[in-house]
Amino acid sequence: MSRTAERRERILRAAVEQGLLDPDAAVLAGFVDLDGIAESVAALHGAFPDGLPVRHAFAAKANCLIPVLEELRLNGMGCEVASAGELAQALAAGFDPADIVYDAPAKTRAELEQALRLGVAVNADSFQELARIDRLLAARPSASRLGIRVNPQVGGGAIAAMSTATSTSKFGIPLEDPGNRQRLLDAYRDRPWLTWVHTHVGSQGCPLDLIAQGIARAVEFAEEINETLGHRQVVGIDIGGGLPVNFRSDEVTPGFDAYADRLRAHAPALFTGAYEIVTEFGRSLLAENGFTAAYVEYTKTVGGRPVAITHAGAQVATRTVFAPDAWPLRVDAHDARGAAKHGRTTRQDVAGPCCFAGDLLARNRPLPLLDVGDIVVLPDTGAYYFSTPFLYNSLPEPAVHGVRVGADGRVTFRLIRPAQTVEQLLAAAGTRPLAAAAPALPVP
Ligand SMILES: *Cc1c(COP(=O)(O)O)cnc(C)c1O
Repeated sequence: MSRTAERRERILRAAVEQGLLDPDAAVLAGFVDLDGIAESVAALHGAFPDGLPVRHAFAAKANCLIPVLEELRLNGMGCEVASAGELAQALAAGFDPADIVYDAPAKTRAELEQALRLGVAVNADSFQELARIDRLLAARPSASRLGIRVNPQVGGGAIAAMSTATSTSKFGIPLEDPGNRQRLLDAYRDRPWLTWVHTHVGSQGCPLDLIAQGIARAVEFAEEINETLGHRQVVGIDIGGGLPVNFRSDEVTPGFDAYADRLRAHAPALFTGAYEIVTEFGRSLLAENGFTAAYVEYTKTVGGRPVAITHAGAQVATRTVFAPDAWPLRVDAHDARGAAKHGRTTRQDVAGPCCFAGDLLARNRPLPLLDVGDIVVLPDTGAYYFSTPFLYNSLPEPAVHGVRVGADGRVTFRLIRPAQTVEQLLAAAGTRPLAAAAPALPVP
């Protein structure tokens, strides 16, 4: 068993002992390894040379829970947001507006006005958005760092839905479309306050060389702007995130060092210190620092195949359930006390609680035979899983616990998000029928 797997088992046993997992009261929970986050952030910082002006901003969509964002801030990160809600979460986590970057393809006027008023950095996604920013700045100056997101059109990776630098991607201004380079150069020339270039090539499934090539195009374009204008107007490059995560084992590969190596090979100008750099990693900082645990409620044999019905399904493992080939997850079998189950494996389906047949975490997966009261663990689910639940069958959002393991092996938990209550689900399900809410009127 890997050290990481031993640590998960230790945490799981403690969670059962302390009642954070309970077959009656807490059948599903998420866990975030706060020590692990600190290590991942340290690896990210260590991958770039000391003295290079780099600001690492965590992509809030990967895990927007406020105590998680706060932990990242305390570890020296900034924050990248893509909606008014994420901006509010980042502010609630204590980020200085100057350390927040706002990227989104559909920013409203009100959102742009707020970001510019607060001094949050903004990357415009289109020429139309740029025109809106013009009007807002004419009404009121802003301290925000402002840039344009360009699409380097270097192509996609293994998961189409995660590839943002294809020739027809909805994101950014496509660099290679006829006439765009000149239009962009004109846009920078006409707007001395446009001082950043932004790109994000894609996420899970994109090879490191593809990501680095896309960034290299953005850097070359920044150089082209500065040469054309005859002065260094572009002072910073926001290179996005997207380092893929290894979902197959506990090995952290590729690491941030490998990423920085490929970046150095393709875009050496980034390492001269001539540009400030912002990064926007999400999944690679959080995925492997979180896991989901769920009880097996029932088991059955169907058509000769064993099926375990657990409490984790599409509501917390949305991508895995709807796109199982793109997002396979490991499933680990543990007994009712949290101890890992070993021994002979049997092919079985691991299902969730949702009322549709495709609600499966794993199909025909060899695992020690799961039994009623066992616990299944889904490693690598710290990003884009329990923190971004999908509302279905009115299943509640599960509790999420932060964890630290002391040098003496003692496990301490801190509540990050309480489980959603039935009252909260009711409140989120629309207004009450008038007949129930209004006092009965006398019938004439
Ligand atoms: C989603 C996103 C990120 C983070 O991607 P990860 O794959 O989680 O690292 C960064 N920047 C932008 C603009 C994004 O949309």
